[in-house]
Amino acid sequence: MTLPADTDVAILGAGLAGLSIASWLVDMTPDHAPLPRLHLLEARQEDTHDRTWCFWDQQPHPFREAISHRWPRWQVSHQGQRVEHCDPDNAYAMLTANAMRRSAYARFALREELQLTRGVEVSAIMPQDESLRVTTSHGNLNARLVIDTRPPPLTALSQSLGVWQVFHGVEIYRPGHGYALSSACLMDFQTGQDGINFVYLLPLDEQRLLVEWTCFHPDRHSEQCQTLLAPELPWMLADWLNQQLGKHWSVQRSETGCLPMMPVTPPTLNARYLSAGIRGGWMRAATGYMFASCQQGAAEVARQLQQARANGHWQLTPPRLRSPALNWMDTVFLHAIRQHPEAAPGWFLALFSATSAGQQRRFLGDQPRWSDLLAIMKALPPGPFMRAAWPRWSMASRAR
Ligand SMILES: Cc1cc2nc3c(=O)[nH]c(=O)nc-3n(C[C@H](O)[C@H](O)[C@H](O)COP(=O)(O)OP(=O)(O)OC[C@H]3O[C@@H](n4cnc5c(N)ncnc54)[C@H](O)[C@@H]3O)c2cc1C
Repeated sequence: MTLPADTDVAILGAGLAGLSIASWLVDMTPDHAPLPRLHLLEARQEDTHDRTWCFWDQQPHPFREAISHRWPRWQVSHQGQRVEHCDPDNAYAMLTANAMRRSAYARFALREELQLTRGVEVSAIMPQDESLRVTTSHGNLNARLVIDTRPPPLTALSQSLGVWQVFHGVEIYRPGHGYALSSACLMDFQTGQDGINFVYLLPLDEQRLLVEWTCFHPDRHSEQCQTLLAPELPWMLADWLNQQLGKHWSVQRSETGCLPMMPVTPPTLNARYLSAGIRGGWMRAATGYMFASCQQGAAEVARQLQQARANGHWQLTPPRLRSPALNWMDTVFLHAIRQHPEAAPGWFLALFSATSAGQQRRFLGDQPRWSDLLAIMKALPPGPFMRAAWPRWSMASRAR
């Protein structure tokens, strides 16, 4: 495999962010108009069905046709109490990694300016006069712009301000499971474990469920967190499934994650370089959801690429994805759940009880109105949140 000597844009990593940027670029450019030459470099040799993306389908994006499931209802439960909401026009939706990739690759086939090379490990990026030199396992590539979506280095993560979302999920086959196909269970809190633990359950059809056990942990590198990833979460999940469904279920595939729910300071180099995806801080720290903000960010970056191709100014600016008010609320929320993990399930339940379906999907989908933010603040107990807010507010005031 040989790489070209140069390209206009190199995207490092063909995951959600990389493929979304390329797909937006194709969709927003008329067929007869030229695109910048864009080369995606991906370390993986082959695609695996390793994840599904779920989100409220409430904004335009290139993958709408590829959505496999929609749930008009969603619910949260804790200690026998259950809150359910319904919004058929803006359902909770699922996009599998394979379907998303197929949709992106179909666009690549239409435009020769787009190239994807797999099995290429990027190791370094060096500024040159009019470009950046990308060093890879298969030689160098010079690019006018580089969009880097590789995982962030640990130094970019404010670990003391957040938690790790550690989860293990299985897609299981269990005919007659009995769960309503119209309702997604976002959080069924589990007691008797350390920290915050919940089960996430999506009925896929009459025979199949996607079920995940999630735990929020403050320290990914601790021995306790390592044992969570394997073997504890798979055991706890299997135990829960045995209790709910009996022993007659079988695993069809599994997925695992350890997501940084914490502020990210995106690595920078110069105006030709942009960090994107989780590395760029596009994931919502307080929720671990990224799909919605990723589509917003990808659309904005694609617009900048079109402009650069048109006016010859090869530079990129980080997209602004969330208001400072939302970022501040998220930081306060993360601080409060780090301080009081035992109280967090009750707070989530209160929040889902006191707000409407529209307020929830806009807040969780990164598009809250001021009235949504106020409703959410009102739903939470003032004491712990005031205590969590104060140091963050005085830090912000001193920084100004
Ligand atoms: C199992 C799982 C389920 C998730 N579910 C949801 C969900 O339901 N909803 C939601 O909003 N978010 C979800 N997320 C969070 C987030 O949306 C995903 O992690 C998303 O894939 C992040 O996109 P990204 O482009 O930043 O990173 P990735 O999609 O991980 O893409 C990064 C790419 O870079 C490649 N790469 C890494 N190193 C190199 C290198 N040195 N050289 C070249 N390439 C390299 C990787 O192979 C990878 O393909 C989930 C995450 C996981 C792990």
